[in-house]
Amino acid sequence: MNIEEYKGVWVFIEQRDGEIFDVGLELLGAGRDLADKLEVELCGVLLGDGIKDKAEELYQYGADTVYVIDNPVLKHYRSETYMKAVGDLVRKYKPEIFVYGATANGKDLASAVATEVMTGLTADTTMLDIDLEKRMFEASRPAFGGNIMATILCKKHRPQMATVRPKVMQKPEPDPSRKGKVIEEKFDMKEEDLRTKVVEIVKAAKKGANLEEAEIIVAGGKGIKDEKGFKMVKDLADAMNATVAASRDVVEAGIIGHEYQVGQTGLTVTPKIYVAIGISGAVQHVVGMQNSELIIAINNDPDATIFNAAHYGIVGDAFEIVPMLTEEFKNALA
Ligand code: FAD
Repeated sequence: MNIEEYKGVWVFIEQRDGEIFDVGLELLGAGRDLADKLEVELCGVLLGDGIKDKAEELYQYGADTVYVIDNPVLKHYRSETYMKAVGDLVRKYKPEIFVYGATANGKDLASAVATEVMTGLTADTTMLDIDLEKRMFEASRPAFGGNIMATILCKKHRPQMATVRPKVMQKPEPDPSRKGKVIEEKFDMKEEDLRTKVVEIVKAAKKGANLEEAEIIVAGGKGIKDEKGFKMVKDLADAMNATVAASRDVVEAGIIGHEYQVGQTGLTVTPKIYVAIGISGAVQHVVGMQNSELIIAINNDPDATIFNAAHYGIVGDAFEIVPMLTEEFKNALA
């Protein structure tokens, strides 16, 4: 493999029923920085049925070029068709870097493409950068239970590929004046050649919290002790019109379901306000909420790590502070 031949930063743009997933737009933002550093093009890869018009939107978020394959067999995601279509594009156009959202389909596709084109893949990354001297893509992710950040390189193969968790990168502001170009490719797989058929799409009922969409989150940690303590957290959340969340220790104690857990093995959230009550600030928790716009921590230990992530800190006993705040919010918003 002549790795010098590989140029350009690519982002896989996931869509469902023609609606582009935010993670693709977030990755165009991150990809723009990488492409500018390398002085190469940023390209989106858009597959589907009747989706060509969507390219316009991708220029606005930073893409210079959009590779489109518009074909009825690509209407719904299937490993078989998407792997072949993306593999063909990679072989033909030779991108240097290729990133995907770490969604269920993004993870499936990235690993399938890695085997199809014989390259490496760094899964579930949270930071992307370039070592300009070596022209090397640096994809970093938490490792060893989140105690260290591991930076993973793909030295001998191209493209250098990574999946990136949704909501970790900032979605850029769209610029309606930006223009780009579409390169449309043909795809010759036929429905009758395929081993998998999409018979029906059944949407799962959305369970519980919907934390990823919440604008205000009030989260409780082990410092709130038990269910009675958590009731106090819920009361504050109600008074602030907020959604409740928890650290893993609270979930493991059976106080609330896993769908409310924030962190490395839970959800990544980016609300406008995140209130952390009795949460120590372990890296595995912080990685899931550190991009919140405003973080307020309440903890009785002035040295708690959570204060490093917080914009405002209140040092004191949550059992005194939280009921006072609840009363204030009830009165203010009544
Ligand atoms: P503690 O660390 O016990 O902190 C309790 C805090 O409450 C302390 O800071 C204490 O000072 C404070 N406190 C006590 N009493 C009061 C009071 N009266 N008033 C105010 N403050 C008080 N954790 C997650 O949250 N999410 C994850 O997704 C996650 N994934 C993990 C994955 C792996 C592989 C591993 C190894 C760990 C993971 N963890 C995760 C666990 C993580 O390491 C921590 O153990 C956990 O976040 C700690 O939860 P906590 O902050 O609620 O509890």
